[in-house]
Amino acid sequence: MYDVIIIGGGPAGLNAAMILGRSRRRVAVFDSGEPRNRWARSMNGFLSSDGVNPGDFIKKGRAELEKYSVDLIDIKIESATYSKGQYVVNDANGKVYHAKKLLLATGLQDDLPELEGILPLYGKSIHHCPYCDGWESRDKAIAVYGKDRNGVGQALAMKNWSDDVTLYTDGTTKLTRADLEKLHNNRVKVNNAKITELEGTDGQLQFIVTDDGQKHPQEAMFFSTGTKQKSNLGQELGCEFTSSGVIRTRRLQQANIPGLYVAGDAARDMQLVIVAAAEGAKAGVAINMELQEEERE
Ligand SMILES: Cc1cc2nc3c(=O)[nH]c(=O)nc-3n(C[C@H](O)[C@H](O)[C@H](O)COP(=O)(O)OP(=O)(O)OC[C@H]3O[C@@H](n4cnc5c(N)ncnc54)[C@H](O)[C@@H]3O)c2cc1C
Repeated sequence: MYDVIIIGGGPAGLNAAMILGRSRRRVAVFDSGEPRNRWARSMNGFLSSDGVNPGDFIKKGRAELEKYSVDLIDIKIESATYSKGQYVVNDANGKVYHAKKLLLATGLQDDLPELEGILPLYGKSIHHCPYCDGWESRDKAIAVYGKDRNGVGQALAMKNWSDDVTLYTDGTTKLTRADLEKLHNNRVKVNNAKITELEGTDGQLQFIVTDDGQKHPQEAMFFSTGTKQKSNLGQELGCEFTSSGVIRTRRLQQANIPGLYVAGDAARDMQLVIVAAAEGAKAGVAINMELQEEERE
């Protein structure tokens, strides 16, 4: 029986494991090896690790856990149940594990626009988050992708990083007169043509090709087309979700089920590596304190 099982070995899960390992807890971290930012070359905005490769960051974190009683187990967890004060989880090979407390740090996954040529460029010159990649795209020719009215806010926001911003609505014409006026007043260009392909080499976007035969030179693209939970374990356990699809937690990452905690992108709050790691640390402390209370005579 473990003190704590952590499902998800990204920054949230690993930082929780560190706090719990340092609290002399027996911990297992299960990970299926698909962190959300695995597409990116660099991880930005984390003090002391700004620009570090995301894979190297995880490798370093895992190595730092070696001196604690933390088992890192690289396998997907297929199911998790809570009964009689205990958590039971089953891995993809059908092996069963038990723990007193459970932390979900399973993250989110992104819905990508269905655009020919996007995958080799995604995470290199095509991004979601200006706080992660805006600086590297500063003063470049930035495209913002958003059908209907979905790209207006992001296109205006990107003016913070470059004067050269174009909103691509990919064959849709739902922008209101007020949208067009605001975009025009803030010198954001608008292109309504249907996109047929993205062209680039070595991860660098070069052209957005539209169905009128035009090739538009662009150096970076930002989009925000939605996310979903990476795992359905939260739903199966009966967690409460917010309207934006993340798990509702209290101040120290507690979910609505006894002994269950959720940290990182899967839970509410900002989606940055440093925030995920901090939430993992908060959950680690809270779990240890809950165990201490239960153990006291
Ligand atoms: C392209 C891209 C670039 C980004 N760049 C930055 C950046 O520069 N700076 C920044 O701060 N943020 C960046 N982010 C956001 C960042 O990736 C997330 O905020 C961060 O990864 C959240 O950490 P997490 O631990 O919650 O989840 P994740 O890092 O996604 O880790 C979750 C882990 O849980 C595992 N898992 C899921 N389900 C199961 C299961 N059932 N069993 C076992 N394991 C499971 C997954 O395989 C994964 O390894 C970027 C995101 C993307 C998509």
